[in-house]
Amino acid sequence: MQNVVIIGSGCAGLTAAIYAARANLKPLVLEGHEPGGQLSLTTHVENFPGFPDGIMGPELIENMKRQAARFGAEFKSGAVTEVDLSKRPFTITVNGEPHLSKTLIVAAGASARLLGLKGEKELIGRGVSTCATCDGYFFRGKPIAVVGGGDSAMEEANFLSRYASKVYLIHRRNEFRASKIMIDRAKANPKVEFMTPYVVEEILSPQGLVSGIKVRHAETSATKQIELDGVFVAIGHDPNSTVFKGKLDMDENGYLKAKHSGIANVPGVFIAGDVQDHRYRQAVTAAGSGCMAAIDAEKFLEEHKDS
Ligand code: NAP
Repeated sequence: MQNVVIIGSGCAGLTAAIYAARANLKPLVLEGHEPGGQLSLTTHVENFPGFPDGIMGPELIENMKRQAARFGAEFKSGAVTEVDLSKRPFTITVNGEPHLSKTLIVAAGASARLLGLKGEKELIGRGVSTCATCDGYFFRGKPIAVVGGGDSAMEEANFLSRYASKVYLIHRRNEFRASKIMIDRAKANPKVEFMTPYVVEEILSPQGLVSGIKVRHAETSATKQIELDGVFVAIGHDPNSTVFKGKLDMDENGYLKAKHSGIANVPGVFIAGDVQDHRYRQAVTAAGSGCMAAIDAEKFLEEHKDS
């Protein structure tokens, strides 16, 4: 029987693990299908407080993991396939093995959608990015593309225009999902060039770094190449919440909904990080919510020690 099981080993899950471990709760961290979360897929992290020279995403995660382990957190690899939250202790199944726990912290994160192009995943950190706030700075004075037609794409195009020499906004349709105000703002930006309806067919990277893209006009099928240094894929994120469907409150996009800050609708379940946050999605906000979840779990255990 565990005191606390933490689902997810990104910034939120590991921060929760540090706090729960320091509270002597010996948390068990289930690492999930993307151990280390989205930070493990980025390169330099320059906006995490305390690292004035920046730190590599994977190194930051490794440090957090060591810090949690030092205080007694345990780790298990594998993704959770089933949870039973209908009664306490909760049952969490990973690799076919059930774990009983008095409390549960869900920090399963969200995964950025990718275009599904050949080599795209390997080029993350080499010109392909899913995070404008993380990587925009590396494209100062360089041409880049943002792919997508939602609010994220508009916001990222505007944000990236502060650094990039030019931003191609590439969307597969002539209509946008984004709100009018966001579209108008991007259209008014002299550095942003809208290209619709275009589909990205290929990311060019002869030297292992992005050097351009090949796009196809969705109506005429005419193709062309654009020389650029970065491709920001902004086609949405999917919260890793499938296993909680019908068990925890979530919005129509699958993001978990707290009853109030970090406390889920099931007593004893706490939520943290990107699985419950489509707005901020920053390492530091994920860490903050992980800390809150661990403190709330500790309080819950204290209040329910006889039940
Ligand atoms: P989204 O609204 O779901 O838009 C995703 C966009 O990516 C759509 O235009 C979609 O095209 C395109 N797309 C999806 N899969 C694709 C693929 N395989 N290839 C090419 N294009 C693809 O996602 P989002 O922009 O990340 O926004 C998510 C939520 O956060 C929304 O509710 C949004 O309003 C909100 N948000 C708000 C703000 C703000 O208000 N400041 C900022 C960011 C996000 P189709 O339209 O053709 O399907």
